[in-house]
Amino acid sequence: MTAELVTLAPPATLPDAVARWNSGAMALVPLAGATEPLVMARDTRETLAEYAQPNGVSGRDLIDAVEAAELRGRGGAGFPTGVKMRAVADREGPRTIVANGDEGEPLAVKDRYLMRIRPHLVLDGLLRVADAVAADRAVVYLSDTMSADSVRKALDELGGTPVPIDVMQVPRTYVGGEESSVVRAIDGGPPLPTDKPPRPFESGVGGGPTLVLNVETLARIPGLAAGVKTDSVLLTLTGSVTRPGLYEVPLGRPLRELVEPVGAPVGFLMGGYFAGLLGPRALDIPLGFTELRAEGSGLGCGAVAVLGPGDCPVAAAADVIAYYDRENARQCGPCIRGTAAMAGALRELADGTASDARLEKLQSWSASLRGRGACATLDGACNVAATLLREFPELVAEHRAAPCSRCAALGPTERTAPHIDPESEET
Ligand code: SF4
Repeated sequence: MTAELVTLAPPATLPDAVARWNSGAMALVPLAGATEPLVMARDTRETLAEYAQPNGVSGRDLIDAVEAAELRGRGGAGFPTGVKMRAVADREGPRTIVANGDEGEPLAVKDRYLMRIRPHLVLDGLLRVADAVAADRAVVYLSDTMSADSVRKALDELGGTPVPIDVMQVPRTYVGGEESSVVRAIDGGPPLPTDKPPRPFESGVGGGPTLVLNVETLARIPGLAAGVKTDSVLLTLTGSVTRPGLYEVPLGRPLRELVEPVGAPVGFLMGGYFAGLLGPRALDIPLGFTELRAEGSGLGCGAVAVLGPGDCPVAAAADVIAYYDRENARQCGPCIRGTAAMAGALRELADGTASDARLEKLQSWSASLRGRGACATLDGACNVAATLLREFPELVAEHRAAPCSRCAALGPTERTAPHIDPESEET
């Protein structure tokens, strides 16, 4: 097994939300519909003097409040936050809490927004949760330099905190923000995933119980403690839309009410690269954790890319899985071979040269490889392959014989992956 760090290089044919936002080409829109902005209340960096700290419940009562509010984590998995808090609070210390702002997903910018613009909101949430679980130590874990500068400046402005807070900056990679990568890095290792169990709440930093919460999750804590509902989500919207940007939108509203596409959308990349593809029916699915999961998709980190009339879902799927093939951490045999094999099959499909046997293999791998990596990267690749085959059967059938008109206009693509069967190798 090798363990190497790879840097992010998003496919040229898909939007890079981070680059667009850094260049000022994306809008910041705090208000959509009837929801009052909870966390996107500013577009310039807040100072401590400007930050209005709300009152509210504290200590163990905050855990009860978080459970009652049914707050779900905003890093991607959507796990109930109160359950994680209680699991750490109920274990013997020393306890560590981590504000996870390492946003490796190329289609999302929300964590950068919060750390660059609302650092005091994030730190307030971090300190409240640290108090609730009686943490001995806190770490803000991130990769974005502007975010690191903003958070360090906020800590200087605070001039001291009840719990010591360190800022740890790591290289930006796709897997660096995975929970076990976070623990491994803080303990001095490379920011790469480890096998589970144990989960960080069982044995994390220094072997103690560790609570890893996404920075958007933490940014919702001060309002929640003061009794404000948390039913909005930060949505990074890219692709074929009139105003790509970062939006705070109410949970439960369909995309049709939130998105202004350029032309009729042919598909959607959901949850960043992770939750796979949906057809145009996505416009009418309520934007929510359970609603999207029930449709075989997911909200993930809240990133949605719209594929417009000039885009091809087959080409998008091929690009995303080629990305996973490049960016996986090269630790697990099934992931190394599986992403390579699926990338190869999809590249053939995009070129109109995939055999029936190859597509049957792709269908089989998209199910059999699930859960066989140390982290969820391989599951993300499986999601993309499975949802392409499920949501776009007619387009896939068209591509079996020849590239569609959109792909044909681009010419033949390079096959970047070796043709190997991940099931035939010892793993
Ligand atoms: S599943 Fe893939 S990305 Fe995750 S640790 Fe294993 S090789 Fe790395």
